[in-house]
Amino acid sequence: MDSVRDLENTVHRAISYHRMFTSATRIAVGLSGIDSYALYRFLLRHHDHKLLTGITILETRSSQREDEVRIWQELAAKSEVTYVVTSFRDEFGAWLDEIVEALEPTSSLSPCLICAQLRNEALRRSAIREGVDTVATGGNANDVLSVMLIRMLGGPLVALDGVVYEHRAAPAYRASTLTYCSPLFYSPKDAVRSYASEDGSTFPSYRCKFLWARGELRLTEVLKPLLELFPEACDLATFDASELLPNPDLRECRVCGEKRRLLPAERCPSCQILALLDEGVA
Ligand SMILES: [Zn+2]
Repeated sequence: MDSVRDLENTVHRAISYHRMFTSATRIAVGLSGIDSYALYRFLLRHHDHKLLTGITILETRSSQREDEVRIWQELAAKSEVTYVVTSFRDEFGAWLDEIVEALEPTSSLSPCLICAQLRNEALRRSAIREGVDTVATGGNANDVLSVMLIRMLGGPLVALDGVVYEHRAAPAYRASTLTYCSPLFYSPKDAVRSYASEDGSTFPSYRCKFLWARGELRLTEVLKPLLELFPEACDLATFDASELLPNPDLRECRVCGEKRRLLPAERCPSCQILALLDEGVA
């Protein structure tokens, strides 16, 4: 069985079925860790390199992440792909630790929620600066099923629904001038991992110090046996997860103008976090 060709076929079908992009689309891809390398590798093999931009966002100061940036730099230079690095410090004037500390007295937001939202915002700003049309994100089928489970479960985790996951919950959607798409939407994590490591590529593993707050990691573990029981759950031909995940009610944020699920103040979660940060600093 040719697992590489299987994964590529699944991704090609997802791209054409949801009209994610054409051969002329300028695509930015967020580069962080081995899973995103799978998406990057697929795009290198099937898209014009001149139309690709890799973006890495540094949330904290970390030597592992700096090592990783060097790997991305070398890979991008080899393929003549544009590569940019930005950081929370560059975009928001502070690192994640400092932002979490500044928000702590006034908000109950988890560090992961803050991080995910500000990563979205840093990626959005960077993609707009680079003049791309579409942002391709690395969410895979396990992530999609996590979203479904979170929605079914409700409970305390429901707070994460639609905020952490909104970009991954739809295979493709137009948010503003930018379109977001998840070409790995139907590809299970294990297949994505083996595709990424098939050419011998490795990346330093980075453990976030705020990891304790991520309930979603345990969910992924719960979902693994389920995915093994129902492999057809990830097959586009028999099951379309996108129909079970109707897009949340997306409206234009009055601050950044991006179509997202809005908080009561008519702001998107990223702009709300940045507003809280401004108030705290003032
Ligand atoms: Zn906004």
